[in-house]
Formats: sequence, C-alpha cells, structure tokens
Amino acid sequence: MPDFSAYDLIVVGSGFFGATIAERCAAELGQRVCVLERRPHIGGNAWSEVDTATGIEVHTYGSHLFHTSSQAVWDYVNRFSAFSNYRHRVIVRHLDRFFTMPMNLGTLSTLFGRFLSPDEARALIAKEVAVSGIVNPANLEEKAISLVGRTMYEAFIKGYTAKQWQTDPRELPADIISRLPVRLTFEDSYFDDRHQGLPLTGYGEIFRRMLAAGGVSVHTGVDYFHVRANIPANIPVVYTGPIDRYFDFRAGELGWRTLDFEREVMPVGDFQGASVVNYPDPDVEFTRIHEFRHLHPERDYQREKSVIFREYSRFARQHDEPYYPINRTADKAGYDDYRTMAEAEQNVIFAGRLGTYRYLDMHQAIGAALRVYEAQLVPYFRDGRPIKQ
Ligand code: FAD
Ligand code: UDP
Repeated sequence: MPDFSAYDLIVVGSGFFGATIAERCAAELGQRVCVLERRPHIGGNAWSEVDTATGIEVHTYGSHLFHTSSQAVWDYVNRFSAFSNYRHRVIVRHLDRFFTMPMNLGTLSTLFGRFLSPDEARALIAKEVAVSGIVNPANLEEKAISLVGRTMYEAFIKGYTAKQWQTDPRELPADIISRLPVRLTFEDSYFDDRHQGLPLTGYGEIFRRMLAAGGVSVHTGVDYFHVRANIPANIPVVYTGPIDRYFDFRAGELGWRTLDFEREVMPVGDFQGASVVNYPDPDVEFTRIHEFRHLHPERDYQREKSVIFREYSRFARQHDEPYYPINRTADKAGYDDYRTMAEAEQNVIFAGRLGTYRYLDMHQAIGAALRVYEAQLVPYFRDGRPIKQ
C-alpha cells in the first residue's frame, strides 16, 4: 500500500481525465501525485493493446476515434504522440444492403432507390416531419424524426437504439442522437472536427508518456475504496469513479449501459473492409462489429488473419463496467441528489465521465481536466485557495 502522506494529490482513475490532472500537477507545479487505478492497466476506456494472436492493436473497450476542434486539446495530446490522418467512416448493414453512416445524401438516395439532390432530400424529410406533427422535439425519437424523417428513423435508428439502450426512445434524451451529424451532401466522414486522427504508436503509449511525468506514481489494481481510510483528510482527491458508488448508492443507483465484446480471430486478411459496421436490424443481436486493422492502414500488418470484436449492449449491474449514462428522469433526480452531497464534501473534486454522470468524448475529458486544473488546482497549490466543487 502506498504511503499516502508522501503525496500532495490523490487521483482516482487513470483515464484521460485523471491522467491529464496528474501530468499537469506534476509537470507544471512540481507536485507529488499518487494515481490509483482499479483495473490492471492505465488509460481508462481509451486503453489499447496489441492482440497477441494477430499483432493488431485493439481498443479494449471498443474503437476510440480521436477528434476535436479545440486547438488547446489538440496541442496538449500532440505532446505525447504524433497522430495519423485517419478519418472515421461507418458502414451500415441493413436488410443485407450497404449504407453509409452518418446519414447523408448517399444514405437517403440508396434507401429511396433514386438519386436525390440536396433540395429533393430536404423536401422529402420536411414532408415526413410535417406528417409526424413534431414541432418541439423533446426526446430521442422526436429529435431523430425531426432530423431525418420517419423512413430513415425506422431503417437506421429505431432498431439500433432499441438494442443499444433497451429503453423507450421517447424516454431517452434528445442529445444522444445530436452526436450524429446529418448531412445533405455526400460527405461521409463521421466527425466534423478540425483535428482528427489516431495516435501513431497507440493509446497505451500516450498514457505511459503522460504518467511518466516526474512526481507521478501509479498504482494499478488498487481500488480507492479499499485504501480510502488510509488517506489523510488534508490531501485533496480528484475522483473520476462513479459518483453513486462514492456515496454508497445512498440516493439509489444511477442507470448505466455496459457493453460485452466478443473477440474472434477470423482466418482472412480482411473481414469486412471497414473499421466499424453497424447492424440496426432487430434480428441481429449485436449492434456493431469492429475490425481494428482498418484503424491503421499505414501499418504493415500481416494479411493472414484479422481480429474483430462484436459489440453487445445491456443494462449494467453493480459489478459491471459502467459505459453510457442512461439519463432517464429518475437518473437525473438521483444525480442532483449526489451533486448536493458532492458539494458538501471537503477536498474532493468529482470529475470525468463517471464522476459527473455525463457522456464525455476523450477530447471533452481532456478539455474539462485542463479547465479544472486551471480553475481549482493551480489556485490551490500556488495560493492555498480551498478546493470547491
Ligand atoms: P474513464 O476512461 O472511464 O476512466 C475512469 C477510470 O477510473 C477507469 O480506468 C476506472 O477503472 C477508474 N476507477 C473507477 N473507480 C475506481 C476506484 N474506485 N478506484 C480506482 N480506480 C477507479 N471518446 C472519443 O473521443 N471517441 C470515441 O470514439 C469514443 N468511443 C467510446 C466508446 C465507448 C464504448 C465508450 C464507453 C466511450 C467512448 N469514448 C470515446 C469516450 C471515452 O472513453 C471517454 O472520454 C473517456 O473514457 C473519459 O475519460 P475519463 O477519464 O473521464 O473516464
Ligand atoms: N445510432 C443509431 N444508429 C446508428 C448509429 C447510432 O441509431 O447506426 C444512435 C444510437 O441511439 C446511438 C447514438 O445514435 O446511441 C449515438 O451514436 P454514436 O455512434 O455516437 O455512439 P457511440 O459511438 O458513442 O456508441
């Protein structure tokens, strides 16, 4: 067990949020930082490793695509790795036909069986939205129909969302679907961000370099709750684990979705010709298949076999990894109760995806960590200002 009194800061979790805080406080402020990580490896959900059977780098928790429009975040991650110019594109297999995702003119034209100009597509969607009578979309279903019309909703969103969330789409927040762009052009890149790419030497390398900052000491396989009693109360804690677990589920369990990945090594050089293929149809149990060789076309991987992950989604129980916050009405009320408890907690910052019960992309986790560092930790370490939520 680490001697906690030897540290200036404890960081719980080594994902992008925790790693950014640890690196900044050690490298810029010269603080001694202890990082505690429950899993046997660093990096949180963005961790990647080389698959021993194929030599292909796999993203252990599903494909992680880096994209950001923030120059500050891009400059920051580029300190730890060079990035490829990979642009993410997703293929959809619906009724054994091929479509592109996000939904664009190509998706619409293929679905409707004729070439649609941007104006024709706009008019077609507007007509379907008018028939549906939706004016102020208040949930995922209404938002999706208002963006793409009912035909596209039924083909690509309804079945996929049913598998991904197992929740009535009218109970899901509209912003889940707002993450997907809809374009009336043939542009098929998944993200619009100015900066996109994948770390040339893998995510694992980024985390190793971030946490190699002098003054950072990392302890994997250590659950904060098993050692919490030994941490002196005057040492601040940045906690990036689940907020409901911190308070022993006093206000109930917040709803999360978890994922199961089924790995298979296929005896072919290329299984599906794309890094991600989505399966919206209800007769297929999984939501998508990842084929990791396509994330790095610049690498000279062997051509005899390929590793794939089939992704299945289900409700998380207490011992599962929480992946996606569900955010139903009851969850929002529960989270408000936990926020009130968090505000009364001394010397603890609740942060990251799990600590704030919010879906965060990697760049958002890094951006939020840089802001917390400037707003809370610099004033605390330089001027002795108390830590507030
Ligand atoms: P995490 O990465 O979850 O790290 C939290 C860490 O805290 C974990 O390692 C956990 O083990 C540890 N921890 C929790 N409790 C304890 C405890 N009690 N003691 C010690 N350690 C503890 N983002 C993108 O930008 N692009 C993508 O393509 C993308 N794809 C994604 C796909 C999936 C399936 C998921 C779930 C997320 C995806 N993300 C993607 C989001 C990305 O993973 C998050 O932005 C990032 O994980 C958030 O970082 P974090 O540090 O807040 O949380
Ligand atoms: N979605 C869908 N069909 C698809 C892809 C996405 O209906 O082919 C919906 C689904 O509800 C999903 C949401 O859009 O949860 C966000 O998709 P995204 O690809 O951003 O999900 P992630 O990669 O974060 O799992």
